[in-house]
Amino acid sequence: MILNKIGHILKDYDDFAIVSHVSPDGDSIGSMLGLFNTLKDFGKSVDLFVDDILPEKYSFLTGYDNIKRYNTGSKYSCLIILDCGDVLRLGELKSLLNCSDIVINIDHHISNTLFGDVNYVDSNASSVGEIIYQILKINGYNISKTTAMCLYTSILTDTGGFKYSNTTSMTFNIVGDLINTGINFSDIYSRIYDSKTLSQTKLLEKVLSTLEVYFNDTVAVLTMPYKLLEECNAKENDADEFINYARNIDTAEVGVFIKQINDFKCRVSLRSKNYVDVSKIAAYFNGGGHIRAAGCTIEGSISEAKNKILDALKDVLEVGHK
Ligand code: 5GP
Ligand code: MN
Ligand code: MN
Repeated sequence: MILNKIGHILKDYDDFAIVSHVSPDGDSIGSMLGLFNTLKDFGKSVDLFVDDILPEKYSFLTGYDNIKRYNTGSKYSCLIILDCGDVLRLGELKSLLNCSDIVINIDHHISNTLFGDVNYVDSNASSVGEIIYQILKINGYNISKTTAMCLYTSILTDTGGFKYSNTTSMTFNIVGDLINTGINFSDIYSRIYDSKTLSQTKLLEKVLSTLEVYFNDTVAVLTMPYKLLEECNAKENDADEFINYARNIDTAEVGVFIKQINDFKCRVSLRSKNYVDVSKIAAYFNGGGHIRAAGCTIEGSISEAKNKILDALKDVLEVGHK
C-alpha cells in the first residue's frame, strides 16, 4: 500500500525537502509543518520551500520561520510535494524536481497530474493535513502537540471551519484525536479567522464595492485592481478570504474573485455551492482545483478575464436567462 511505502521512505531517507504551492494557504503551510516537525523529532534533515510571501497569520506554527523562498543549489535525497495539483503550482521551485533522487506527490486535488515517482492523491480527503495524519498514524508515529497544531490548522482551513462538503466523519475523528494532544483549538481559530488588520478591512470595503451579479444573480463577481493594495497599504494575501463574500450571497451558485496581478494578468478564484464543477472551468484556463473551489490565471485586463469566465460559466448554469 502506498501509505506504507511512503512510511518506509520517511524512515529510510535522511534528508528531505518539503515544498508546496504559491498563494500558500492553511493546508499547504499546516501540512508542510506537520510533517516537518515529526521528521525533525526523528533527527532528519528537512528544508522547507514556498515560492511566495507567507500569510503572517500562520506564523504561530512551529517551523514557519524555516520556510524559505529560494533553493540555492542544494540537492535532496527525497522531495515531498504537498497540496499541489500540478508542478506549475510550485512557481520557480519546480527546479527542485531535478535536484532530488525521488519525488513524492501527496495531494487531494481531483485534477492532480500524478507528476511524482510516488503519488498519493486522495480526492476524498478534506485536506492534505488529513492525509499526513493518516501517513503518520499508519506508520506508527506519535503525533506531538506541535504537529497536531499544524495538522489541525490544515484541516480547519481547508474545510472552511468544518463546514464545506469535503468534511467527513473521518475528518471529525482525526480532529478529535488532534484535540486530545491538548492543543488550544479555540486560540488557533481566533488567530486565523478573528484577527483582521485595519488595512485588510479597508481593502475589503473597496473590494465589496466592486460586486456585480450575472445570470439571474447566480454568479457573483468581486474584483481587485492591483492599485487597491497600495491605496490600502495591504498585502496580496490579505484578500485570501474575500471570495466567500461572493459565494455566500444566497442566490449565488458561483462566486468569482478576480485579482489583478499587473496590466496583463489576473488570478481568478472560483467557488460553487451545489452543482457547478468549477475545477472544470479552471482547467479550461489551464488552472485546476476541486469541484467546489478552484483557481486559474488569465492573461488580460480585469474586464477581459471577467468576460472569459462568464462566457465559460453561461453554458453550465441552470438558469432561464443565460
Ligand atoms: P484559491 O482560489 O484559493 O487560490 O484556490 C482554490 C483551489 O484551487 C485550491 O485548492 C488551489 O490549490 C486550487 N488552485 C488555485 N489556482 C490553481 C491553479 O492555477 N492551478 C491548479 N492546478 N490549481 C489551482
Ligand atoms: Mn492549498
Ligand atoms: Mn488543500
